[in-house]
Amino acid sequence: AKQSGHNHLQFYVASIDQEIRDRKLLERDLSEALAKGEFHLVYQPQVDLETRRIIGAEALIRWNHPTRGFVPPDHFIPVAEANGAIVEIGQWVLEQACWQASQWAAKGIGVRIAVNLSAVQLQQADVVEDILDTLHRHNVAAGRLELEVTETSFMTNLADAVDKLHQLNQAGISIAVDDFGTGYSSLTYLKKMPVQHLKIDKQFIRDLLLNEEDTRIANTIIDLGRSLNLSVVAEGVETAEQEYYLTQRGCRLAQGYYFSKPIPAREFETFVHSFHEQ
Ligand code: C2E
Ligand code: CA
Ligand code: CA
Ligand code: CA
Repeated sequence: AKQSGHNHLQFYVASIDQEIRDRKLLERDLSEALAKGEFHLVYQPQVDLETRRIIGAEALIRWNHPTRGFVPPDHFIPVAEANGAIVEIGQWVLEQACWQASQWAAKGIGVRIAVNLSAVQLQQADVVEDILDTLHRHNVAAGRLELEVTETSFMTNLADAVDKLHQLNQAGISIAVDDFGTGYSSLTYLKKMPVQHLKIDKQFIRDLLLNEEDTRIANTIIDLGRSLNLSVVAEGVETAEQEYYLTQRGCRLAQGYYFSKPIPAREFETFVHSFHEQ
C-alpha cells in the first residue's frame, strides 16, 4: 500500500508538472498571438423579440493557432486575465469592434456593438480614457457601444468600478451586466451601478422549459428588469419554444443559436438583411 501511495504521489506531481508546462506554453503562444494576427472577431446578432429587428451584435474573440487550431475563449481568456495579457488583447478587441461599428454605420447597418470588458481591464487607471479615445478615433457615436461587464467587476473595488462605469455611461455608452445570476449577484450593485441591461446567463435558458428552477430564475430576472427599468437580454436561446416563452413572459431581447451563431462581419451583414426581409 505504501509503495502504491508513493507511486500515486509521483504520478500526481508529474501531472501537476505537466500542467504547469502546458500553461507556460499557452502563455507563450498567447503573448505572440496578437503580433502574429491570430485573433479575429465574430459577431452574434441580438434580436428585439417585439419588433423582430436585429438591434445589436456581441463581439466575441476567436483564436486560431497554427498548430493548436481553434482555442476557445473560455480556455485562454482566464489565462490572459491572470497574467495581464487581457489588457492588450481587450484593447485590440475594442479597436476592431469600433472599426467595424464605423463600417456598419456607413453602410446603414444600425446595430449597437457589445464588447466584453474584463474586470481586469476595468481596473486599469486609464480604461475610460482609452475607450473614449478609441471611439473618437473611429468616429463612432458612444451610443453605438455597449460594454458587457460581469459581477466580478464590482467586487474588487466597488467605488472605483461605479465611478468608471458612470463616466462611460455619461459619455453615452451603455452597460450590460453579463452572466447575471451566476456570480455574487447583489441588489446593492444594481442600485449603485449605472447599468441599462441585464443578460440572463445561458445556463438558465438551456433548460428553461424543462427545469422549474431555471424557469423561476429567468422569470425573476425578467421581473427585476421590469421593476428597475432595465432591459433584459436572454442569451443562449436555441429553440422556438424558448423564444416563444421569453416573448410571452416579456423578455424583450434575445441572442442564441436559434437566430444565429456568432459569425464573421460579412456574414452578419447578409444575416441582418435577410432577417429583416422575413
Ligand atoms: P459570454 O460573454 O457569456 O458569451 C456567450 C457565449 O455563449 C459565447 O461563447 C457564445 O458563442 C455562446 N453562445 C451564444 N449563443 C449560444 C447558444 O445558443 N448556445 C450555446 N450553448 N452557446 C451560445 P464564446 O464565444 O466561446 O465565449 C465564451 C466566453 O469567453 C464569453 O462568455 C466571454 O466571457 C469570454 N469572451 C469571449 N470573447 C471575449 C472578449 O473579446 N473579451 C473578453 N474579456 N472575454 C471574451
Ligand atoms: Ca458577453
Ligand atoms: Ca454568459
Ligand atoms: Ca462569461
